Amino acid sequence: MKPIQTSLRRWMLDNESFKQRHEAMKTEVLRHPHIAQFLKEHPEITEQAIEKRLNKLYEYTTQSIHCDQCQSFDKCKNIVKGYSPILQFIHGEIHLSYEKCSNHIHHEKMQEKQNLIQSVYMPKEILNARMADLFPDHHRAEATKEADLFINRAKHTLPEKGIFLTGPFGVGKTYLLGAIANELQKLDISSMLIYMPEFVREIREAIKDNTVQKKVNLFKKADVLMLDDIGAETLSAWFRDEVLGSILQYRMMEKLPVFFTSNYTMKQLEQILATSTKNGVEEVKAGRIMERIKQVSKEVKVAGENRRNFD
Ligand code: ADP
Ligand code: MG
Repeated sequence: MKPIQTSLRRWMLDNESFKQRHEAMKTEVLRHPHIAQFLKEHPEITEQAIEKRLNKLYEYTTQSIHCDQCQSFDKCKNIVKGYSPILQFIHGEIHLSYEKCSNHIHHEKMQEKQNLIQSVYMPKEILNARMADLFPDHHRAEATKEADLFINRAKHTLPEKGIFLTGPFGVGKTYLLGAIANELQKLDISSMLIYMPEFVREIREAIKDNTVQKKVNLFKKADVLMLDDIGAETLSAWFRDEVLGSILQYRMMEKLPVFFTSNYTMKQLEQILATSTKNGVEEVKAGRIMERIKQVSKEVKVAGENRRNFD
């Protein structure tokens, strides 16, 4: 008989402690401010309904509600990442469901914005460039001032002229383009930032699958076009006149800005454009391209030390 009595006592004790734990959990759950508020809003909720879904109410208390315990989408603590719990009382029963949380929505918006910069070939460090991180020094002062001016004007209407950043290798011209693109992105203005040698390669590839026109149209119509390192590559006469020329012509007519970076000044670039093709010196054609470049951008010098030494 003794063993049975002992087991029974243990069972009763266990049961007792289960009951105690259950009651303690219930008290804690009901004390949760959101649940207290929920019950206040629904006085019709019965004791049985609460008992039936106590586990769900408990689950609710363990979650980050309206992102109160999460700093960002990536650090979300919830059972389903990016979803916040909501309580409802439907047809006499308490229901727990999850809806997209504000961090999740913010994350999606940021992703959408990131896609606005269609810089297929840009290095990551440039994608994250910020105007606020620019080195404040007099060599770059004019370029920074012009960039600020452009961004401020863009808050009202998109200016028709971009900036032609000319200066030696490594002074931060491409970095500045990236920073401008990021500021414009905040204004929902998309920038198409492309490294010229890659651009030439891309269009050459497009000949094979007949997509030249489609691609050229993207460059024509982008809100802001940024051509990085113009003059660094040899252009065919066809690329210079039919591709670059027609893109610039379109943008000039539509008053759409273009940004450039170059190791050359506009004057030097004109020479390069005139002599880089196999057709001998073509001053008239090069002059025509330069006219369009001048229409869509303003030349600004950037100087200073070579930042690449600091990497
Ligand atoms: P450029 O296009 O004139 O040749 P880059 O923009 O590529 O020069 O800049 C050279 C290096 O210096 C890059 O590694 C770039 O990330 C870095 N850099 C330039 N400006 C800044 C800046 N303001 N803050 C941080 N890094 C910079
Ligand atoms: Mg560069």
